[in-house]
Amino acid sequence: MRAGQREKLRATLKGRLIVPGESSYESARRVFYWNPKTERSPVAIVQCGHEDDVLRAVEFARAQALEVSVRSGGHSHLAWGSSDGLVIDLSPLKQITIDPRKRIVRAQAGVFSGEVARAAAMHGLVPVLGQCPGVSATGVTLGGGLGWLSGLFGACCDNLLSARLVTADARTVEVNAESDPNLFWAMRGAGANFGVTTHFEAQLHSIGTVLGGDLHFAVRDAHAVLHGFREIMHDAPDGFQATLNLTSGERGLFVSLCHTGKEKEADELMRKLRSLAPPIREAMQRQPFVSLAEKAAATNPGNTPTPTFRAIQTVYRERITDELIDIYLDQLAQAPSDLVLGLSHYMHGKVCRVKPTETAFPHRHAHSIHLRAAYSWSDPKDNEKRFAWGEEWLRQLRPKSNESLYANYQTYETKTGSPSVFGVNHTRLLALKEKYDPTNFFHRNANIAPAKG
Ligand SMILES: Cc1cc2nc3c(=O)[nH]c(=O)nc-3n(C[C@H](O)[C@H](O)[C@H](O)COP(=O)(O)OP(=O)(O)OC[C@H]3O[C@@H](n4cnc5c(N)ncnc54)[C@H](O)[C@@H]3O)c2cc1C
Repeated sequence: MRAGQREKLRATLKGRLIVPGESSYESARRVFYWNPKTERSPVAIVQCGHEDDVLRAVEFARAQALEVSVRSGGHSHLAWGSSDGLVIDLSPLKQITIDPRKRIVRAQAGVFSGEVARAAAMHGLVPVLGQCPGVSATGVTLGGGLGWLSGLFGACCDNLLSARLVTADARTVEVNAESDPNLFWAMRGAGANFGVTTHFEAQLHSIGTVLGGDLHFAVRDAHAVLHGFREIMHDAPDGFQATLNLTSGERGLFVSLCHTGKEKEADELMRKLRSLAPPIREAMQRQPFVSLAEKAAATNPGNTPTPTFRAIQTVYRERITDELIDIYLDQLAQAPSDLVLGLSHYMHGKVCRVKPTETAFPHRHAHSIHLRAAYSWSDPKDNEKRFAWGEEWLRQLRPKSNESLYANYQTYETKTGSPSVFGVNHTRLLALKEKYDPTNFFHRNANIAPAKG
Protein backbone atom coordinates (compact mmCIF):
# COMPACT_ATOMS: atom_id res chain seq x y z
CA MET A 1 0.00 0.00 0.00
CA ARG A 2 1.50 3.30 -1.06
CA ALA A 3 1.91 6.07 1.54
CA GLY A 4 -0.12 8.53 -0.57
CA GLN A 5 -3.14 6.24 -0.70
CA ARG A 6 -2.82 5.50 2.97
CA GLU A 7 -2.79 9.18 3.85
CA LYS A 8 -5.86 9.77 1.67
CA LEU A 9 -7.70 7.13 3.67
CA ARG A 10 -6.50 8.65 6.94
CA ALA A 11 -7.89 12.02 5.90
CA THR A 12 -11.40 10.61 5.35
CA LEU A 13 -11.61 8.88 8.75
CA LYS A 14 -13.16 10.18 11.95
CA GLY A 15 -11.26 7.50 13.87
CA ARG A 16 -7.61 6.41 13.64
CA LEU A 17 -5.53 4.71 11.00
CA ILE A 18 -2.66 2.73 12.51
CA VAL A 19 0.13 1.37 10.32
CA PRO A 20 3.35 -0.59 10.95
CA GLY A 21 6.01 1.47 12.66
CA GLU A 22 3.59 3.59 14.67
CA SER A 23 3.83 3.27 18.45
CA SER A 24 0.34 1.83 18.91
CA TYR A 25 0.68 -0.73 16.10
CA GLU A 26 1.85 -3.65 18.27
CA SER A 27 -1.02 -3.38 20.73
CA ALA A 28 -3.56 -2.60 17.98
CA ARG A 29 -2.78 -5.73 15.99
CA ARG A 30 -2.94 -8.03 19.00
CA VAL A 31 -6.09 -10.11 19.59
CA PHE A 32 -7.12 -12.27 22.57
CA TYR A 33 -5.90 -15.67 21.29
CA TRP A 34 -2.49 -14.42 20.28
CA ASN A 35 0.22 -16.97 19.60
CA PRO A 36 2.74 -17.82 16.87
CA LYS A 37 0.01 -19.59 14.85
CA THR A 38 -2.58 -16.79 14.99
CA GLU A 39 -0.25 -13.78 14.79
CA ARG A 40 -0.90 -11.48 11.80
CA SER A 41 0.74 -8.27 10.57
CA PRO A 42 -1.96 -6.01 9.10
CA VAL A 43 -0.89 -3.41 6.54
CA ALA A 44 -3.28 -1.05 8.31
CA ILE A 45 -5.81 -0.98 11.12
CA VAL A 46 -8.82 1.33 10.97
CA GLN A 47 -10.03 2.03 14.49
CA CYS A 48 -13.45 3.37 13.66
CA GLY A 49 -14.52 6.66 15.21
CA HIS A 50 -17.88 6.64 13.43
CA GLU A 51 -19.97 4.18 11.45
CA ASP A 52 -18.99 6.05 8.25
CA ASP A 53 -15.42 4.85 8.80
CA VAL A 54 -16.59 1.31 8.12
CA LEU A 55 -17.85 2.36 4.68
CA ARG A 56 -14.59 4.19 3.91
CA ALA A 57 -12.57 1.15 5.00
CA VAL A 58 -14.62 -1.27 2.90
CA GLU A 59 -14.33 0.99 -0.17
CA PHE A 60 -10.58 1.30 0.39
CA ALA A 61 -9.99 -2.42 0.84
CA ARG A 62 -11.94 -3.14 -2.35
CA ALA A 63 -10.03 -0.54 -4.35
CA GLN A 64 -6.65 -1.80 -3.05
CA ALA A 65 -7.62 -5.51 -3.22
CA LEU A 66 -6.69 -5.93 0.46
CA GLU A 67 -7.82 -8.86 2.58
CA VAL A 68 -10.28 -7.58 5.15
CA SER A 69 -10.85 -8.70 8.71
CA VAL A 70 -13.58 -7.30 10.91
CA ARG A 71 -13.12 -7.01 14.63
CA SER A 72 -15.42 -5.96 17.46
CA GLY A 73 -13.93 -7.60 20.55
CA GLY A 74 -11.02 -9.61 19.11
CA HIS A 75 -12.04 -12.87 20.85
CA SER A 76 -12.22 -15.19 17.85
CA HIS A 77 -10.56 -18.49 18.74
CA LEU A 78 -8.80 -18.52 15.35
CA ALA A 79 -7.99 -14.79 15.47
CA TRP A 80 -10.31 -13.97 12.60
CA GLY A 81 -10.36 -10.39 13.88
CA SER A 82 -6.93 -9.89 12.38
CA SER A 83 -5.31 -10.43 9.00
CA ASP A 84 -2.29 -9.40 6.95
CA GLY A 85 -4.48 -6.92 5.07
CA LEU A 86 -6.82 -4.26 6.46
CA VAL A 87 -8.38 -4.64 9.91
CA ILE A 88 -11.68 -2.86 10.50
CA ASP A 89 -11.82 -2.48 14.27
CA LEU A 90 -15.21 -1.38 15.59
CA SER A 91 -14.30 -1.58 19.28
CA PRO A 92 -14.33 2.21 19.81
CA LEU A 93 -18.02 2.40 18.78
CA LYS A 94 -19.68 2.19 22.18
CA GLN A 95 -23.06 3.95 22.09
CA ILE A 96 -25.85 2.13 23.94
CA THR A 97 -29.50 3.18 24.24
CA ILE A 98 -32.13 1.30 26.21
CA ASP A 99 -35.82 1.59 25.37
CA PRO A 100 -37.32 0.43 28.69
CA ARG A 101 -40.90 0.52 27.43
CA LYS A 102 -40.22 -1.82 24.50
CA ARG A 103 -37.45 -3.65 26.42
CA ILE A 104 -34.99 -3.18 23.60
CA VAL A 105 -31.28 -2.33 23.52
CA ARG A 106 -29.89 -0.42 20.55
CA ALA A 107 -26.11 -0.46 20.46
CA GLN A 108 -23.11 0.17 18.29
CA ALA A 109 -20.98 -2.81 17.38
CA GLY A 110 -18.11 -2.18 19.81
CA VAL A 111 -20.08 -2.72 23.03
CA PHE A 112 -19.10 -5.61 25.28
CA SER A 113 -21.63 -8.00 26.81
CA GLY A 114 -20.91 -6.61 30.30
CA GLU A 115 -21.52 -3.05 29.10
CA VAL A 116 -24.92 -4.00 27.70
CA ALA A 117 -25.80 -5.82 30.93
CA ARG A 118 -24.88 -2.73 32.96
CA ALA A 119 -26.92 -0.37 30.75
CA ALA A 120 -29.93 -2.73 30.81
CA ALA A 121 -29.67 -3.13 34.60
CA MET A 122 -30.25 0.62 35.03
CA HIS A 123 -33.81 -0.15 33.84
CA GLY A 124 -34.22 -3.44 35.71
CA LEU A 125 -33.68 -5.44 32.51
CA VAL A 126 -31.27 -8.14 31.32
CA PRO A 127 -29.80 -9.03 27.90
CA VAL A 128 -29.17 -12.54 26.58
CA LEU A 129 -25.44 -12.46 25.91
CA GLY A 130 -22.34 -14.60 26.43
CA GLN A 131 -20.87 -15.41 29.84
CA CYS A 132 -17.80 -13.21 29.55
CA PRO A 133 -18.29 -9.46 30.10
CA GLY A 134 -15.36 -8.47 27.89
CA VAL A 135 -16.52 -10.31 24.76
CA SER A 136 -18.30 -8.19 22.17
CA ALA A 137 -22.09 -8.41 22.21
CA THR A 138 -22.08 -8.18 18.40
CA GLY A 139 -19.53 -10.95 17.79
CA VAL A 140 -21.24 -13.39 20.14
CA THR A 141 -24.68 -12.71 18.63
CA LEU A 142 -23.62 -12.97 14.98
CA GLY A 143 -22.27 -16.49 15.59
CA GLY A 144 -25.32 -17.74 17.55
CA GLY A 145 -24.46 -16.90 21.14
CA LEU A 146 -24.92 -18.98 24.29
CA GLY A 147 -25.13 -17.54 27.76
CA TRP A 148 -26.42 -17.86 31.31
CA LEU A 149 -29.99 -17.16 30.21
CA SER A 150 -30.19 -19.25 27.02
CA GLY A 151 -32.25 -21.97 28.75
CA LEU A 152 -34.88 -19.33 29.49
CA PHE A 153 -34.70 -17.01 26.48
CA GLY A 154 -32.81 -18.85 23.71
CA ALA A 155 -29.54 -18.07 21.99
CA CYS A 156 -28.31 -14.48 21.71
CA CYS A 157 -29.25 -14.53 18.02
CA ASP A 158 -32.84 -15.56 18.91
CA ASN A 159 -33.06 -12.19 20.66
CA LEU A 160 -31.64 -10.14 17.80
CA LEU A 161 -34.25 -7.78 16.34
CA SER A 162 -32.33 -5.90 13.69
CA ALA A 163 -28.85 -5.03 12.47
CA ARG A 164 -27.33 -2.27 10.39
CA LEU A 165 -24.91 -3.73 7.90
CA VAL A 166 -22.23 -2.43 5.55
CA THR A 167 -22.24 -4.90 2.67
CA ALA A 168 -19.37 -6.11 0.49
CA ASP A 169 -20.41 -3.61 -2.22
CA ALA A 170 -20.20 -0.79 0.36
CA ARG A 171 -23.90 -0.14 0.92
CA THR A 172 -25.52 0.41 4.30
CA VAL A 173 -28.65 -1.66 4.86
CA GLU A 174 -31.03 -2.11 7.78
CA VAL A 175 -31.80 -5.78 8.20
CA ASN A 176 -34.79 -7.03 10.14
CA ALA A 177 -37.59 -9.58 9.79
CA GLU A 178 -39.63 -7.24 7.57
CA SER A 179 -36.96 -5.53 5.44
CA ASP A 180 -35.17 -8.71 4.33
CA PRO A 181 -36.33 -11.90 6.10
CA ASN A 182 -33.76 -14.10 4.33
CA LEU A 183 -30.74 -11.98 5.22
CA PHE A 184 -32.09 -11.47 8.74
CA TRP A 185 -32.36 -15.25 9.10
CA ALA A 186 -28.71 -15.60 7.95
CA MET A 187 -27.49 -12.86 10.30
CA ARG A 188 -28.61 -14.94 13.25
CA GLY A 189 -25.73 -17.43 13.37
CA ALA A 190 -23.76 -16.72 10.19
CA GLY A 191 -23.76 -12.92 10.43
CA ALA A 192 -20.02 -12.35 9.96
CA ASN A 193 -20.27 -13.74 6.43
CA PHE A 194 -22.60 -11.05 5.12
CA GLY A 195 -21.08 -7.69 5.97
CA VAL A 196 -19.96 -5.47 8.79
CA THR A 197 -22.58 -5.01 11.47
CA THR A 198 -22.28 -1.47 12.78
CA HIS A 199 -25.36 -1.40 14.99
CA PHE A 200 -27.83 -3.89 16.42
CA GLU A 201 -31.09 -4.05 18.32
CA ALA A 202 -31.89 -6.89 20.72
CA GLN A 203 -34.67 -7.95 23.04
CA LEU A 204 -34.22 -7.47 26.78
CA HIS A 205 -36.01 -9.34 29.54
CA SER A 206 -37.09 -8.86 33.10
CA ILE A 207 -36.04 -11.38 35.77
CA GLY A 208 -35.65 -11.17 39.54
CA THR A 209 -32.34 -11.69 41.29
CA VAL A 210 -30.29 -14.78 40.49
CA LEU A 211 -28.30 -17.16 42.61
CA GLY A 212 -24.84 -17.17 41.10
CA GLY A 213 -21.18 -17.82 41.76
CA ASP A 214 -18.65 -20.63 42.09
CA LEU A 215 -18.67 -23.85 44.06
CA HIS A 216 -15.16 -25.32 44.53
CA PHE A 217 -14.26 -28.97 45.03
CA ALA A 218 -10.99 -30.80 45.57
CA VAL A 219 -9.45 -32.03 42.31
CA ARG A 220 -9.20 -35.53 43.82
CA ASP A 221 -13.05 -35.58 43.73
CA ALA A 222 -13.16 -34.76 40.02
CA HIS A 223 -14.48 -38.19 38.99
CA ALA A 224 -17.51 -37.99 41.29
CA VAL A 225 -18.16 -34.33 40.50
CA LEU A 226 -18.04 -34.83 36.72
CA HIS A 227 -20.45 -37.79 36.86
CA GLY A 228 -22.79 -35.97 39.24
CA PHE A 229 -22.65 -32.78 37.18
CA ARG A 230 -23.89 -34.77 34.19
CA GLU A 231 -26.85 -36.14 36.19
CA ILE A 232 -27.82 -32.75 37.59
CA MET A 233 -27.62 -31.01 34.22
CA HIS A 234 -29.66 -33.72 32.54
CA ASP A 235 -32.72 -32.66 34.55
CA ALA A 236 -31.84 -28.98 34.91
CA PRO A 237 -34.71 -26.50 34.87
CA ASP A 238 -34.65 -23.87 32.09
CA GLY A 239 -33.49 -21.21 34.56
CA PHE A 240 -30.32 -23.08 35.55
CA GLN A 241 -26.99 -23.03 33.79
CA ALA A 242 -23.62 -24.25 35.06
CA THR A 243 -20.11 -24.50 33.68
CA LEU A 244 -17.63 -26.99 35.06
CA ASN A 245 -13.98 -25.92 35.12
CA LEU A 246 -11.04 -28.16 35.86
CA THR A 247 -7.73 -26.38 36.18
CA SER A 248 -4.21 -27.60 36.61
CA GLY A 249 -3.35 -24.58 38.74
CA GLU A 250 -4.46 -23.54 42.20
CA ARG A 251 -8.03 -22.72 41.12
CA GLY A 252 -8.65 -26.48 41.02
CA LEU A 253 -12.13 -27.77 40.23
CA PHE A 254 -15.13 -25.47 40.35
CA VAL A 255 -18.64 -25.17 39.05
CA SER A 256 -19.75 -21.66 38.01
CA LEU A 257 -23.51 -21.33 38.01
CA CYS A 258 -26.51 -19.09 37.57
CA HIS A 259 -30.02 -19.90 38.68
CA THR A 260 -33.05 -17.77 37.85
CA GLY A 261 -36.35 -18.75 39.42
CA LYS A 262 -37.85 -19.83 42.71
CA GLU A 263 -35.52 -19.96 45.74
CA LYS A 264 -36.82 -23.41 46.63
CA GLU A 265 -35.66 -24.73 43.23
CA ALA A 266 -32.24 -23.09 43.75
CA ASP A 267 -31.93 -24.62 47.23
CA GLU A 268 -32.64 -28.07 45.83
CA LEU A 269 -30.04 -27.66 43.06
CA MET A 270 -27.46 -26.48 45.60
CA ARG A 271 -28.26 -29.43 47.84
CA LYS A 272 -27.61 -31.80 44.93
CA LEU A 273 -24.36 -30.05 43.96
CA ARG A 274 -23.03 -30.01 47.53
CA SER A 275 -23.75 -33.72 47.85
CA LEU A 276 -21.45 -34.60 44.91
CA ALA A 277 -18.37 -34.22 47.12
CA PRO A 278 -17.47 -32.01 50.08
CA PRO A 279 -17.17 -28.44 48.73
CA ILE A 280 -13.92 -26.81 49.79
CA ARG A 281 -15.09 -23.24 49.14
CA GLU A 282 -18.23 -21.42 48.08
CA ALA A 283 -18.40 -17.98 46.53
CA MET A 284 -22.11 -17.90 45.93
CA GLN A 285 -24.72 -15.25 46.47
CA ARG A 286 -28.16 -14.04 45.54
CA GLN A 287 -27.49 -11.01 43.38
CA PRO A 288 -28.78 -8.86 40.53
CA PHE A 289 -27.98 -10.60 37.22
CA VAL A 290 -25.62 -7.77 36.26
CA SER A 291 -23.20 -8.62 39.10
CA LEU A 292 -22.75 -12.10 37.66
CA ALA A 293 -22.70 -10.84 34.07
CA GLU A 294 -19.81 -8.53 34.91
CA LYS A 295 -17.71 -11.27 36.48
CA ALA A 296 -14.64 -12.35 34.51
CA ALA A 297 -14.88 -15.66 32.65
CA ALA A 298 -12.88 -18.72 33.66
CA THR A 299 -10.61 -18.35 30.64
CA ASN A 300 -9.95 -14.74 31.51
CA PRO A 301 -9.70 -14.39 35.29
CA GLY A 302 -9.44 -10.90 36.73
CA ASN A 303 -6.31 -9.57 38.42
CA THR A 304 -3.90 -11.94 36.69
CA PRO A 305 -1.06 -10.70 34.47
CA THR A 306 -1.73 -10.97 30.73
CA PRO A 307 0.23 -13.91 29.35
CA THR A 308 2.26 -13.46 26.19
CA PHE A 309 0.43 -16.28 24.40
CA ARG A 310 -3.05 -17.79 24.63
CA ALA A 311 -4.55 -20.68 22.71
CA ILE A 312 -7.69 -22.76 22.88
CA GLN A 313 -9.18 -25.95 21.48
CA THR A 314 -12.89 -26.64 21.53
CA VAL A 315 -15.11 -29.59 20.64
CA TYR A 316 -18.90 -29.88 20.44
CA ARG A 317 -20.32 -33.19 21.67
CA GLU A 318 -23.93 -34.35 21.73
CA ARG A 319 -23.54 -36.07 25.13
CA ILE A 320 -21.29 -36.10 28.18
CA THR A 321 -20.20 -39.74 27.91
CA ASP A 322 -18.18 -41.86 30.35
CA GLU A 323 -15.40 -41.91 27.74
CA LEU A 324 -15.37 -38.10 27.65
CA ILE A 325 -15.09 -37.89 31.43
CA ASP A 326 -12.22 -40.40 31.43
CA ILE A 327 -10.35 -38.40 28.79
CA TYR A 328 -10.81 -35.20 30.79
CA LEU A 329 -9.42 -36.78 33.94
CA ASP A 330 -6.53 -38.34 32.11
CA GLN A 331 -5.67 -35.13 30.24
CA LEU A 332 -5.75 -33.08 33.43
CA ALA A 333 -3.18 -35.39 34.99
CA GLN A 334 -0.78 -34.58 32.14
CA ALA A 335 -1.67 -30.92 31.74
CA PRO A 336 0.72 -28.01 31.70
CA SER A 337 0.13 -25.22 34.22
CA ASP A 338 -2.30 -22.43 33.28
CA LEU A 339 -4.75 -24.88 31.77
CA VAL A 340 -8.53 -24.61 32.06
CA LEU A 341 -10.57 -27.58 30.88
CA GLY A 342 -14.22 -26.68 30.63
CA LEU A 343 -17.65 -28.13 30.05
CA SER A 344 -19.78 -25.16 29.01
CA HIS A 345 -23.29 -24.30 27.86
CA TYR A 346 -25.11 -27.53 28.68
CA MET A 347 -27.79 -27.35 26.01
CA HIS A 348 -31.33 -27.40 27.35
CA GLY A 349 -34.45 -25.32 27.64
CA LYS A 350 -35.59 -22.62 25.24
CA VAL A 351 -32.45 -22.61 23.06
CA CYS A 352 -33.17 -26.26 22.18
CA ARG A 353 -36.88 -25.68 21.55
CA VAL A 354 -36.12 -23.30 18.68
CA LYS A 355 -35.95 -25.36 15.48
CA PRO A 356 -32.43 -25.72 13.97
CA THR A 357 -33.72 -24.13 10.74
CA GLU A 358 -35.41 -21.16 12.41
CA THR A 359 -32.17 -19.19 12.41
CA ALA A 360 -28.81 -19.90 10.77
CA PHE A 361 -27.48 -21.29 14.11
CA PRO A 362 -28.35 -25.03 13.96
CA HIS A 363 -26.62 -26.76 16.89
CA ARG A 364 -29.49 -26.96 19.35
CA HIS A 365 -29.54 -30.62 20.45
CA ALA A 366 -30.73 -31.05 24.02
CA HIS A 367 -27.99 -32.42 26.35
CA SER A 368 -25.13 -31.47 24.03
CA ILE A 369 -22.13 -29.68 25.48
CA HIS A 370 -19.22 -27.45 24.47
CA LEU A 371 -15.81 -28.69 25.58
CA ARG A 372 -12.80 -26.45 25.84
CA ALA A 373 -9.14 -26.55 26.73
CA ALA A 374 -7.73 -23.06 27.16
CA TYR A 375 -4.07 -22.56 27.94
CA SER A 376 -1.59 -19.75 28.14
CA TRP A 377 2.15 -19.34 28.47
CA SER A 378 4.79 -16.67 28.27
CA ASP A 379 8.04 -18.37 27.29
CA PRO A 380 8.39 -18.91 23.50
CA LYS A 381 10.49 -22.00 24.33
CA ASP A 382 7.21 -23.66 25.42
CA ASN A 383 5.43 -23.06 22.09
CA GLU A 384 5.82 -26.56 20.66
CA LYS A 385 5.03 -28.31 23.95
CA ARG A 386 1.82 -26.31 24.43
CA PHE A 387 0.61 -26.77 20.87
CA ALA A 388 1.36 -30.50 21.07
CA TRP A 389 -0.69 -30.78 24.27
CA GLY A 390 -3.64 -28.95 22.66
CA GLU A 391 -3.46 -31.13 19.52
CA GLU A 392 -3.45 -34.27 21.65
CA TRP A 393 -6.52 -33.09 23.61
CA LEU A 394 -8.28 -32.43 20.29
CA ARG A 395 -7.15 -35.75 18.81
CA GLN A 396 -8.79 -37.60 21.68
CA LEU A 397 -12.06 -35.68 21.83
CA ARG A 398 -12.78 -34.81 18.21
CA PRO A 399 -13.64 -38.34 16.88
CA LYS A 400 -17.08 -38.43 18.52
CA SER A 401 -18.02 -34.85 17.66
CA ASN A 402 -19.74 -35.77 14.35
CA GLU A 403 -17.41 -33.06 13.00
CA SER A 404 -19.97 -30.47 14.15
CA LEU A 405 -18.57 -27.03 14.92
CA TYR A 406 -20.08 -24.00 16.62
CA ALA A 407 -19.08 -20.82 14.73
CA ASN A 408 -18.18 -18.91 17.90
CA TYR A 409 -15.97 -21.73 19.16
CA GLN A 410 -14.37 -22.91 15.96
CA THR A 411 -10.72 -23.85 16.55
CA TYR A 412 -10.08 -26.18 13.61
CA GLU A 413 -11.16 -26.80 10.03
CA THR A 414 -12.95 -29.98 8.98
CA LYS A 415 -12.69 -31.67 5.57
CA THR A 416 -16.31 -30.72 4.82
CA GLY A 417 -15.74 -27.07 5.73
CA SER A 418 -18.68 -24.79 6.55
CA PRO A 419 -21.39 -27.52 6.43
CA SER A 420 -19.86 -28.66 9.74
CA VAL A 421 -20.75 -25.29 11.20
CA PHE A 422 -24.11 -24.65 9.59
CA GLY A 423 -25.48 -28.19 9.16
CA VAL A 424 -29.01 -28.27 7.73
CA ASN A 425 -28.83 -24.53 7.00
CA HIS A 426 -25.76 -24.66 4.80
CA THR A 427 -27.41 -24.87 1.37
CA ARG A 428 -29.67 -21.91 2.09
CA LEU A 429 -26.74 -19.92 3.46
CA LEU A 430 -24.58 -20.68 0.43
CA ALA A 431 -27.25 -19.26 -1.90
CA LEU A 432 -27.42 -16.11 0.25
CA LYS A 433 -23.63 -15.78 0.34
CA GLU A 434 -23.55 -15.98 -3.46
CA LYS A 435 -26.12 -13.20 -3.60
CA TYR A 436 -24.67 -10.83 -0.99
CA ASP A 437 -20.93 -11.54 -1.09
CA PRO A 438 -20.14 -13.44 -4.30
CA THR A 439 -16.40 -12.63 -4.17
CA ASN A 440 -16.09 -13.76 -0.53
CA PHE A 441 -14.84 -10.34 0.51
CA PHE A 442 -15.74 -11.23 4.12
CA HIS A 443 -13.93 -14.51 4.70
CA ARG A 444 -12.12 -14.17 8.04
CA ASN A 445 -15.02 -15.97 9.77
CA ALA A 446 -16.76 -19.37 9.86
CA ASN A 447 -16.64 -19.05 6.15
CA ILE A 448 -19.26 -20.07 3.62
CA ALA A 449 -17.18 -20.04 0.46
CA PRO A 450 -19.21 -19.12 -2.64
CA ALA A 451 -18.43 -20.98 -5.87
CA LYS A 452 -16.90 -17.89 -7.54
CA GLY A 453 -15.18 -16.49 -4.44
C1 LIG B 1 -13.14 -15.42 27.25
C2 LIG B 1 -14.18 -15.79 26.23
C3 LIG B 1 -15.47 -16.11 26.66
C4 LIG B 1 -16.46 -16.46 25.71
N1 LIG B 1 -17.71 -16.76 26.17
C5 LIG B 1 -18.68 -17.10 25.27
C6 LIG B 1 -19.99 -17.43 25.70
O1 LIG B 1 -20.30 -17.43 26.89
N2 LIG B 1 -20.90 -17.77 24.77
C7 LIG B 1 -20.61 -17.82 23.43
O2 LIG B 1 -21.50 -18.14 22.63
N3 LIG B 1 -19.37 -17.49 22.99
C8 LIG B 1 -18.40 -17.14 23.88
N4 LIG B 1 -17.14 -16.84 23.43
C9 LIG B 1 -16.85 -16.92 22.00
C10 LIG B 1 -17.21 -15.61 21.32
O3 LIG B 1 -18.61 -15.51 21.24
C11 LIG B 1 -16.65 -15.58 19.90
O4 LIG B 1 -15.27 -15.67 19.96
C12 LIG B 1 -17.08 -14.29 19.18
O5 LIG B 1 -16.93 -14.48 17.81
C13 LIG B 1 -16.27 -13.13 19.66
O6 LIG B 1 -16.64 -11.95 19.04
P1 LIG B 1 -15.63 -10.72 19.09
O7 LIG B 1 -16.26 -9.63 18.32
O8 LIG B 1 -15.24 -10.47 20.50
O9 LIG B 1 -14.37 -11.30 18.35
P2 LIG B 1 -13.68 -10.87 16.98
O10 LIG B 1 -12.44 -11.69 16.93
O11 LIG B 1 -13.56 -9.40 16.89
O12 LIG B 1 -14.72 -11.38 15.91
C14 LIG B 1 -15.10 -12.72 15.84
C15 LIG B 1 -15.74 -13.02 14.47
O13 LIG B 1 -16.89 -12.20 14.31
C16 LIG B 1 -16.72 -11.29 13.23
N5 LIG B 1 -17.21 -9.98 13.65
C17 LIG B 1 -16.93 -9.34 14.81
N6 LIG B 1 -17.56 -8.17 14.83
C18 LIG B 1 -18.24 -8.06 13.68
C19 LIG B 1 -19.07 -7.06 13.14
N7 LIG B 1 -19.31 -5.93 13.80
N8 LIG B 1 -19.61 -7.26 11.91
C20 LIG B 1 -19.36 -8.41 11.22
N9 LIG B 1 -18.57 -9.39 11.69
C21 LIG B 1 -18.01 -9.21 12.92
C22 LIG B 1 -15.23 -11.26 12.96
O14 LIG B 1 -14.94 -10.91 11.64
C23 LIG B 1 -14.82 -12.68 13.29
O15 LIG B 1 -15.10 -13.53 12.22
C24 LIG B 1 -16.14 -16.48 24.34
C25 LIG B 1 -14.84 -16.17 23.92
C26 LIG B 1 -13.88 -15.83 24.85
C27 LIG B 1 -12.50 -15.50 24.39
